[in-house]
Amino acid sequence: MRNYTSISLFYCLFFLYGQTPFLEIRPYAKPDFVQYDLKNHVDHHFPTANITDGNFRRFDGINLTEELMFPNCDQGSACYDGHAGVDYYMPAGTPILAPADGYVIWSAFSPGANPCPGGISPNGDTGIIILAHPGTGHFSCYLHLEPPLNAAVGETVSTGDTLGFAGNTGCAQTPHLHFEIRKDTYFFDEQLSYAVDPFGWWGTEPDPIESLRGNRSEWLWKSSWLIDDNDNGFQRYYGPLWDRMAVGYQGDSWIAPSTSDALTSRHYAIWVPELEEGGEYNIDVYIPSGLDAATAVIYEVYVKNNNLGTSDKMLVTYDQTSNTDNFSTIAALDLPEGSNCSVILRDIVASGSIGSFVVFDAIRFTNTGTVGVDENNLLHPTNKSLNIKSIYPNPFNPQVTVDYNISTSEKVSVIITDLTGRQIKKINQVFKVKGMHSITWIGDNDYGTKVSSGLYFLSIKAGNLIKTAKILLLE
Ligand SMILES: [Zn+2]
Repeated sequence: MRNYTSISLFYCLFFLYGQTPFLEIRPYAKPDFVQYDLKNHVDHHFPTANITDGNFRRFDGINLTEELMFPNCDQGSACYDGHAGVDYYMPAGTPILAPADGYVIWSAFSPGANPCPGGISPNGDTGIIILAHPGTGHFSCYLHLEPPLNAAVGETVSTGDTLGFAGNTGCAQTPHLHFEIRKDTYFFDEQLSYAVDPFGWWGTEPDPIESLRGNRSEWLWKSSWLIDDNDNGFQRYYGPLWDRMAVGYQGDSWIAPSTSDALTSRHYAIWVPELEEGGEYNIDVYIPSGLDAATAVIYEVYVKNNNLGTSDKMLVTYDQTSNTDNFSTIAALDLPEGSNCSVILRDIVASGSIGSFVVFDAIRFTNTGTVGVDENNLLHPTNKSLNIKSIYPNPFNPQVTVDYNISTSEKVSVIITDLTGRQIKKINQVFKVKGMHSITWIGDNDYGTKVSSGLYFLSIKAGNLIKTAKILLLE
């Protein structure tokens, strides 16, 4: 084994409220497999479309001060001064799917930024859908959709439902999905943005977005412990010279020309696992043979502990021509319960590297404390389910009862939100054994005051699962 590096990152504090990834699928049609081109990231420096300050800070802490504005930056390094979301370029008409359960709080063709960033002319009003995801504090926003919008305000949606279709309405010249996550409210504030980054923040200093309003960016895609390049946990920036190869783990991999000059770097990929247990992990990479791979690529390993506010980064130089067509361990690290870890690989190689390409394929995170156990069963989420069985009466006054079923014993809480996604009432967590249960809401808020009549959403949260039902309080 070459270039084996071990780090020990010990923390004594466990997560009590670690963010659970909730984007089960990509925020667009689950492809056969296509990973659409990601061209623009969130600007952590100041994510407000009408305020450009010549400084773009990416999720990995990299600071860009040149080629900052569309369309130039899509030739370069995923920049877009003031960008509040993530842009995926895809054919017009591509179905956009709900990435998580929730309900629709905005569905309309509305004016976009004025003037448009980059001086382009608006292509009419922009088709916008915004979802509330109760119990998570997150709102997901979809811009530039073309008609028809497929989801109406007040509708509940489940993961995978078609919300609408990709287009180029509003400030867009090319069909793409602008996917944006806001924390605490869907309201757009030009000065103090509610936008956060679904890629999280991996810089070693504090997240500038967090210092703006206190909202923390966290990695939101669900993933697994073995991340291939068709997995949510793998995201790549669309550089100009990517090539997809029909070799590698599960028959595919990506290559980009290597460079030894960081300024000419144009490609990178990030792998983020969802690990259910803390412990000691090996990081294993899979590189296929026969690709003229570089002999000194640099894997960046990030470990983040949001409770302690620490963010650690280590570099591992690795020869991609060694032990090909196999998993090779490149690092071992201790991950406390609930902490986050990611691996970033760029097209940049160390000096003296030979070979023309950096290769991007599967990465595996193996808990070394459970070696010898069937790998296929390690760390996989158990088959948990939560189902709402009945809601009665609905419409209701003065009280509504919801029957639900859980397949495993869980902590359960109930959250009532209004049509704007605002939380009205939380009925605190209690432990429920698996099976059928009921909860009743008497139409009051957190202060015990009776709420006004209208539409509300009752969300049951059991462990990591959330199910939402629409309920109508009548006078
Ligand atoms: Zn955008």
